[in-house]
Amino acid sequence: MIEMKNPVVELDGDEMARVLWGMIKDTLLRPFIDLKTEYYDLGLPHRDETADAVTLEAAEAIRRLHVGVKCATITPNAKRMEEYSLHQMWKSPNGTIRAALDGTVFRAPILTSRIKPHVSNWVKPITIARHAYGDVYKAAELRVPGPGTATLTFRSADGAETTQTVYDFECAGVLQGQYNKDSSIESFARACFSYALSVRQDLWFSAKDTIAKQYDGAFRDIFRRIYEAEFKAAFEAAGLRYFYTLIDDAVARVMRSEGGFVWALKNYDGDVMSDMVSAAFGSLAMMTSVLVSPDGNYEFEAAHGTITRHYYRYLNGEETSSNPVAMIFAWSGALRKRGELDGTDALVDFAGKLENATLGAIEDGVMTGDLASLCACAGVTTKAYLEAVRERLEKSMR
Ligand code: NAP
Ligand code: MG
Repeated sequence: MIEMKNPVVELDGDEMARVLWGMIKDTLLRPFIDLKTEYYDLGLPHRDETADAVTLEAAEAIRRLHVGVKCATITPNAKRMEEYSLHQMWKSPNGTIRAALDGTVFRAPILTSRIKPHVSNWVKPITIARHAYGDVYKAAELRVPGPGTATLTFRSADGAETTQTVYDFECAGVLQGQYNKDSSIESFARACFSYALSVRQDLWFSAKDTIAKQYDGAFRDIFRRIYEAEFKAAFEAAGLRYFYTLIDDAVARVMRSEGGFVWALKNYDGDVMSDMVSAAFGSLAMMTSVLVSPDGNYEFEAAHGTITRHYYRYLNGEETSSNPVAMIFAWSGALRKRGELDGTDALVDFAGKLENATLGAIEDGVMTGDLASLCACAGVTTKAYLEAVRERLEKSMR
């Protein structure tokens, strides 16, 4: 039995993901580790019972213990309000936790030789870091009904005003005002540099500073300033590179690259590019996601949701072939980080063996239906797949 010095924060979730969560713990973790977690039930019924207080408590626990692992959770909409008889349409737990930790989300694909990325030269993973604050997601918008003048005004706290004309409209049109904050861009930059160092990969950052000279120029300058002041020495010592380039140029370079770097992007660019990159690498079920805060707290999860359609089949007594790989990697990521922070080598070693066993089964042709359909193999049930992983893990632990 591998001992843990400190617990990880465990955030349980909903539907099929919750079912897989339990299966992973029973099959792959508890037989090998004296698993210590501080448990928070973020399943929708319990979020509703606690008026969502449990979500904030879990975020606080991550701040205290520095490492969390999260299961996918339902973000309520009108249909879910009815299905779960909710008291309120609770906000997305991921949004709440991200705001509480001031974190940045890094998404990286899990590669196996069985599944060829659609871009054949991408032989290493490309990790997308998306700035999840502001810009078009917090913009003020207007429909311009007809001729008139649009202006942009800033009134400072002491009452001084600056105004610029945006456009003298001669006809109807549309208008939008966006903002971002230096403090948020700084946190984003720090999270990106820290993460790139922790995974020993180069960091790329791209924006459109040739057009948005003030706006995107601020992003470029803040990244540069923080790099020079806080990270340059460590990057050079690790033989890593930070470079900024115009987004058009970055897109062209990414397509020609072999991967193996972290690509930091503004909010909208990150939204679009992360879907493109994950589609090109094959499957949402093979995509991990890590929330990193600028002061070094980590929350690991799978990028996919609660896999609702499979859950309804499961409730009908069917054995599903849901893919648990990204969820297993969320656990291995959290346990590795816990081991690194606590100096528990056996735990770090276990995380690596768990990942190897998970990929080993796939390399040997044992995989769930979503992957099987990508490489003309026959898929197995989640249970059979987890058994195949457990066998390999047991062998490597002897
Ligand atoms: P989803 O749960 O990711 O599932 C979409 C579809 O993708 C599934 O129906 C399935 O396709 C396939 N898929 C996703 N993960 C899979 C896996 N591990 N193994 C096999 N197939 C997988 O997204 P959704 O249906 O849009 O959202 C469902 C719920 O999840 C929503 O309530 C949403 O709020 C929540 N959600 C949570 C998070 C989070 O907590 N991080 C993220 C996204 C969504 P087939 O049915 O064709 O097999
Ligand atoms: Mg998107």
